Amino acid sequence: MQKNHKLVYINGKTFEVLLTQTHIQARIRELAWQIHQSYPQEQTIYLIGVLNGAFRFVADLLTYFPQDRQLCVDFTKISSYAGTYSTGEIHPIIGLKQGLKNKHVLLVEDIIDTGLTIQYLTKQIQQQQPFSVKIATLLFKPQALRTSLQPDFIGFEIEPLFVIGYGLDYNEQGRNLNDIYVLKD
Ligand code: 5GP
Repeated sequence: MQKNHKLVYINGKTFEVLLTQTHIQARIRELAWQIHQSYPQEQTIYLIGVLNGAFRFVADLLTYFPQDRQLCVDFTKISSYAGTYSTGEIHPIIGLKQGLKNKHVLLVEDIIDTGLTIQYLTKQIQQQQPFSVKIATLLFKPQALRTSLQPDFIGFEIEPLFVIGYGLDYNEQGRNLNDIYVLKD
């Protein structure tokens, strides 16, 4: 991977800045407050981050939640992407714990594209009869959505283009970038 202040080059592809670190952090601070406000203080949020992409978003949400927020954190993993397009194939879920009955579950995604991943995950979680399931996503591509499911908390709506950075990868590279970049060509 090569990088100058505005462009990143990975395996022959060029990416340019779409959202800066400052912009991302400011929005996550707002989202954390919005999520916190939507759950009564006595309710414990069972936050489940979807790996790999959401690890940075989850960490920053935790930074900005009020420190007395009642919260449990866990991660699960599911993959439907290879390269720069969604395959639409859903692979098995790894690491989803039991014991969500009557809990308030908040699924945290890095990005929702077709929505098939989050729809599948939501259905699996619903089988455990949680009290509620809400969805937070940092990025949302409404024009790519192929399900009726709508996220409850959205960081940024973006065009249906391929993005990397801030946890999101291109063939496992680019997760370390602090800004979010979009594929240029
Ligand atoms: P969906 O099932 O909504 O089509 O895709 C969800 C998953 O695909 C995300 O969790 C993410 O891993 C991956 N994905 C979707 N769009 C992008 C994108 O623009 N860039 C990257 N790096 N991954 C994406």
